[in-house]
Amino acid sequence: MRKTWDKKTKIVATIGPGSMKLETMRKMYAAGMDAVRINTAHGDFDQYDHIIGMTRAIGDIPIIMDIKGPSVRVRSRSPRQVKAGDLVVAGFGDEELSFSYDFYDEVRVGDRIAIDDGTINTKVDGKHDGMLTLRVVDGGVIQTNKGVNIPGKRLKILRLSPKDLKAIEYSKEKQVEFLALSFTRDADDVANLRKRMGPTKQAIIAKIESEAGVLHVAEILEQADALMVARGDLGVEIEYHRVPLIQKDLIRRCNHRGKVVITATQMLETMVDKPNPSRAETSDVANAILDGSDAVMLSAETSIGKYPVKSVEMMSKIAVEAERVLTGQIPANGFQNISETVSRSIEMIARSMPLDKIVTLTRSGYTARMIARFRPQQPIIAIASDGMVTRQLELVFGVTPVYARYHEADDIILNACEILVGKRLLERDDYVLFTAGVRTETPHESNLIEIHKVADLLKVVNKQ
Ligand code: PGA
Ligand code: MN
Repeated sequence: MRKTWDKKTKIVATIGPGSMKLETMRKMYAAGMDAVRINTAHGDFDQYDHIIGMTRAIGDIPIIMDIKGPSVRVRSRSPRQVKAGDLVVAGFGDEELSFSYDFYDEVRVGDRIAIDDGTINTKVDGKHDGMLTLRVVDGGVIQTNKGVNIPGKRLKILRLSPKDLKAIEYSKEKQVEFLALSFTRDADDVANLRKRMGPTKQAIIAKIESEAGVLHVAEILEQADALMVARGDLGVEIEYHRVPLIQKDLIRRCNHRGKVVITATQMLETMVDKPNPSRAETSDVANAILDGSDAVMLSAETSIGKYPVKSVEMMSKIAVEAERVLTGQIPANGFQNISETVSRSIEMIARSMPLDKIVTLTRSGYTARMIARFRPQQPIIAIASDGMVTRQLELVFGVTPVYARYHEADDIILNACEILVGKRLLERDDYVLFTAGVRTETPHESNLIEIHKVADLLKVVNKQ
């Protein structure tokens, strides 16, 4: 049982060639990694097997698997240096340089095509016989399989590729906790994925990384379980300078609704090949946490970087420091449900007395998320009797999930107390607030608050 409350912010680490070793992953876990991400833009299913196997071996943490959705990649037979002013020819088949999706009929002369997170920029200069001539604006080295953006263009590309469909099936088989849908454009994209997944407890993270996604975020949030501020593509699809405020807006929306939000990409980019981050990066991580992120993500830093363990360590240190001054303010918005209302009382109590821990007995994880959005100083221990829900809760800020089968018929507060003392998550001197839904089967009805000193509760247990 891992006590996670020394650090409340959750860290997602993308696993790739730089970290695909049990020993490395164990160290990352010890350094504060709370979730593993598999980016299906790279690697094959044998590798995913390996990553999933190792994750299950190191601890009870969730796996996030990317569904690439409507994204386009460049294919280059060999790394190709291009410089500003060059003209290059690209096709859609097996040419020297090609794109994974045929958008020939959908682009016009003058359109911008960006490669590799916008590092390399080109403009369509001509179109002939299914081939594009591109004028290089910002040069660089084109590496195969890098992402391609055509800002502002809604391509007629399939919502889910054949590999995506395979990944969805595979994720069910492996009981992967989260599917992260790249380039989510609207609620239909999420609903479509949900339909494909069929009956499952797996959750959907909508990756917001295009103008359409930003525009439709309110309706997307109705459908999705969580959001990722996918700044890599967002920066290219929209403009770089708009990313900070969009980040704040997306995070605020998630906090208000108690939906998990992950801030991603280039957080400690310098650490891909250097042992220390830039000062701007340390500020970025802290600010993302102060904005209200549940989780911050490492991409290249851990997947292909030289310092995967150090990157997690650095992120953990920045998080612990930022959390010292963190508060959550969630404006009231009329009556929604009992858990929502009760979470407000809990936050007030947590602020008004010397309370050590908050314990929530939660079925779907909803109440835990509602409490967490207030960013209380106290650890939130969430007991769930479903393995998938327990692991999903690992992504929620400040929450230490505990899997336990408790008996709803018995005194569930005594029961929870015994379980947590047994796991050394509660101590005799602790003042603890317990919340649960009793005498109700309805979801979102945590209708009970009890506050006890653990030692006193244990006396009651012993008398029975
Ligand atoms: P990606 O998504 O790493 O799958 O591209 C994150 C981002 O675009 O920021
Ligand atoms: Mn992306």
